[in-house]
Amino acid sequence: MVFSVTILGSNSAIPTLKRNPSAHLLNVNERIFLLDCAEGTQLQLRRYRIHFQRIRHIMISHLHGDHYYGLIGFLTTLHLLGRKDELHIYAPAGLEEIIQMQLNVSSTTLIYPVIFHPLVSAALQPLFEDERVMVHSFPLLHSVPTFGFLFREKIKVRKNPALRAYAYCTDTAYDEQIIPWISGVDLLYHEATFMQDMAAAAAEKMHSTAREAAMIAKKSRVKKLLIGHFSARYDDLTPLLHESRELFPETFLAEDGITINV
Ligand SMILES: [Zn+2]
Ligand SMILES: [Zn+2]
Repeated sequence: MVFSVTILGSNSAIPTLKRNPSAHLLNVNERIFLLDCAEGTQLQLRRYRIHFQRIRHIMISHLHGDHYYGLIGFLTTLHLLGRKDELHIYAPAGLEEIIQMQLNVSSTTLIYPVIFHPLVSAALQPLFEDERVMVHSFPLLHSVPTFGFLFREKIKVRKNPALRAYAYCTDTAYDEQIIPWISGVDLLYHEATFMQDMAAAAAEKMHSTAREAAMIAKKSRVKKLLIGHFSARYDDLTPLLHESRELFPETFLAEDGITINV
């Protein structure tokens, strides 16, 4: 049984030489999901030797560029590599038009079907389900319509009959309204763009601090917390890790290239 997440990008808006902007690869019993697709994502997939064509579902949290500027490049590469299988993209309304315009002006017709699923601001929206996994979206609190994603594994492990779950929450201000949706998950990814000394700037930009991410993890009684979406201002991430661990000891850094089991 596999239920793991590989971090392809852990930075916020500006890529650095050490950290790419947002992208996660989730493997739920060999169902492969790409969560966000920032600039440089296809190079990261190559770097970590992930077979592109195995990705069948892409979830885009919102339409700030650091979460989807890599998408047209990735879609085009799949086309050039001769993809035949369907690709499903779950994203806020607007993305389909952007992608279609980029394809139109380059006279490109993709040789494989792309199916767009617009996300709506309802509470918990079912997106996908098969015999192995169940996926929902839910709204986050940010400056444009933004969605978190919840993945529940459906195959029960003999020793552990409870279903395992992963929640992906970026970008968002501190928001206790998400607690019922992510309550008790095995692994919570929550953005921590800043440290607590920049709480005012975080609130103004509708982002969270490491301490606020820990507070959400604690109140939601999750088992492990993964923090990421770091501001490029932080070269060393240890202080963010310590800040979060003060409140929630089971915190880990979402560093590029790591794989963590859910
Ligand atoms: Zn962002
Ligand atoms: Zn954003």
